Amino acid sequence: MPPPLAKPPAPDSAAPEATTPGSVAAGSKDSDGGVLAAAYGATSADSGLVPLTLARRAPREDDVEIAIEFCGLCHSDVHAVRGEWGGQAYPLVPGHEIVGTVSRVGSAVTDFAPGDRVGVGCMVDSCRECESCLDGLEQYCENGMTGTYGAVDRRNGGSITQGGYSSSIVVDRRYVLRVPDSLDPAAVAPLLCAGITTFSPLRHFDVEEGDVVGVVGLGGLGHMAVKLAKAMGAKVVVFTTSESKVPAALELGADEVVLSRDEAAMEAANRTIDLIIDTVAAPHDLNPLFRTLRVDGALFQLGLPSEAMPPVNPRALVRRRIAYAGSLIGGIAETQEMLDFCAEHGVVADIEVVRAEQLNEAYDRMVAGDVKYRFVLDTGTLQAPAKEADA
Ligand code: NAP
Ligand code: ZN
Ligand code: ZN
Repeated sequence: MPPPLAKPPAPDSAAPEATTPGSVAAGSKDSDGGVLAAAYGATSADSGLVPLTLARRAPREDDVEIAIEFCGLCHSDVHAVRGEWGGQAYPLVPGHEIVGTVSRVGSAVTDFAPGDRVGVGCMVDSCRECESCLDGLEQYCENGMTGTYGAVDRRNGGSITQGGYSSSIVVDRRYVLRVPDSLDPAAVAPLLCAGITTFSPLRHFDVEEGDVVGVVGLGGLGHMAVKLAKAMGAKVVVFTTSESKVPAALELGADEVVLSRDEAAMEAANRTIDLIIDTVAAPHDLNPLFRTLRVDGALFQLGLPSEAMPPVNPRALVRRRIAYAGSLIGGIAETQEMLDFCAEHGVVADIEVVRAEQLNEAYDRMVAGDVKYRFVLDTGTLQAPAKEADA
């Protein structure tokens, strides 16, 4: 279990030095014990990703400093880096599928020690006091959770958080996950976003043996939804726009594959599905998908296209008491539960490891749907940090 959420420290509390010895994350230490970290990020919406240097704070009493080994590339990183969701601050170092080893811990940290393999997902803080936070639903924090990158870090002087395409990161222990030793660390990285984002709605719907789960879009999230739903005992039907992915979907464990642009195939799938996990990153018509659901079925939309979607037909919903829902990642305790579930069932992502200089090409390939199924950055390929930080 992750450490319990506790009240935040008083805003003016001093930041004591880390006391537990351990190897320092890659990069040179400044006089306060902070580290200059190598990174790759964007300087504007059209800069692409370029080498950058980050100033990472010295671990404070509740902090865990992590030497990052791998970071998955999520489609959300592309949306954010390219300014597709608007309101983006630059420079921006993306990355919220982080796996590494603990290099230093703060004086109050007793549950993590240097050398532990750990992970960080999409959030690094939340208010810790509201009903959502106290319910373990920090992602729905009433005061706004702090995203791992591009978010105002209220407990750190309003600086902007910077993510995992970097050699190190410092995160409060309450938002750090334990990565089971039995799983390949590179292939675990995508579980920290793609895994938990699909696990959470599958659990919310209580998916079990006998249920039929439809997975729409076979990318990073989609392929995790297939693996997790299968591990929960469901029958899985993949809906894809890519004919070339049909054999691969079956290989992943899907029981059936439907080409979503084939009207006859969609008609044949009428009233066959209990739950749809829709992971498509672009606008698309949901109404044909609603027709594949049974009475009391549900469609969870996880994708966040930057442009408007075609309107939902209310008749499609009311005729079968269909629920149209959304879902955002998962809470910290649920993320740990997902990692432990994956260890128990031997589930990891199918990945292609890339070097730092391949990141821009990887983004283009992701947008073109040309990845099976998640790129993961090997942070060992980042160049050394510069003498001064860019952010
Ligand atoms: P991804 O790997 O690029 O997969 C998206 C899939 O959508 C593609 O593989 C493709 O599958 C399908 N697709 C169909 N038409 C497309 C088009 N015109 N452009 C792009 N994709 C198209 O993306 P991902 O990392 O899984 O992320 C999917 C979406 O979920 C993104 O919008 C991301 O921002 C969002 N997301 C949401 C959460 C959350 O908490 N709700 C968390 C993470 C990510 P087929 O080829 O099989 O049709
Ligand atoms: Zn993500
Ligand atoms: Zn809260």
